[in-house]
Amino acid sequence: MSKIIAGHELVPGKTVRDYVHVEGTGIDVPYVLLCGMQPGPTVLITAGIHCAEYVGIQAAVELADELDVRDLSGDLIIIPLCNRSGFEHRTMSMVYEDGKNLNRVFPGDPEGTAADRLAYVLFNTFIKNSNAHIDLHCGDGYETLVPFAYYVGDTPAEETARKMAACVNTSYCVRSRCLTGGAYNLAAVNGVPSVLIERGQLSLFPREEIDADKADVRNILKCLGVLEGEAVFYQKTQFMEYDDVSPCTGFWYPEKQPGDPFRKGEKLGEIRDCFGNCLFTECAERDGVLLYQCASLNILEKGPMIAYGVTEGPLF
Ligand SMILES: [Zn+2]
Repeated sequence: MSKIIAGHELVPGKTVRDYVHVEGTGIDVPYVLLCGMQPGPTVLITAGIHCAEYVGIQAAVELADELDVRDLSGDLIIIPLCNRSGFEHRTMSMVYEDGKNLNRVFPGDPEGTAADRLAYVLFNTFIKNSNAHIDLHCGDGYETLVPFAYYVGDTPAEETARKMAACVNTSYCVRSRCLTGGAYNLAAVNGVPSVLIERGQLSLFPREEIDADKADVRNILKCLGVLEGEAVFYQKTQFMEYDDVSPCTGFWYPEKQPGDPFRKGEKLGEIRDCFGNCLFTECAERDGVLLYQCASLNILEKGPMIAYGVTEGPLF
């Protein structure tokens, strides 16, 4: 008997467009199952875990429409909008019902608040039944970033995950040490090789970035044997990530742009009050390259401020 996902048997050639209900909430999460004509792995593609990261969301919508079951060796699960209620209420990333960041609450809790319950369903229905996971992210409405990919180090499927990251057409990748909270982190811990792609910023969704995401996903699917053809591996610099949250609420004045290199001790930005008095100066703790940062004038206490990569050596 074939694998069953969300009550649907994965029969070769079948396409399913449906919703999974999150028990105890009003949330129904849309998903598409594309059951390949040939056997192969089950690959999960998620987007919209952060609901204002539109490049990945639109890329997933288009991939679900364009990929053809006749061309697939294996099955695809595509969830284009994981945080649907946030999208429909235009929150900036948070789950509308409880204000939680979905990517901090995996593996979730069936007895918890809406985000906990949603994470629980996403993990138990989809992630743990997959053989590989691609998670599409972007800069949020207040974030700028340089495109890069994450994979998780020191996990059972690291070797495959590293290859998946190499398929992403960016100059940088981060080998993460974070094993908790996030969907792709949890996948990795559970032996599902996973990669998180960051591309796009400020909740914009330019055509070239959507197309670049789609090309990356297709390239990874070649690497995994789901699509025919040779995968291309892109040489990139591998980083460890340093990220700092803001120590206070205030006015934020960044000094660098994503992709800019800098030296240890250099000033990266400053937080001021509304009279222009300096409240805090952010300086680099190591030589690095700026990966993403808050780009809005306001910055929030304990909210994202800046993240940069520190060289760990080339990926190859
Ligand atoms: Zn995100």
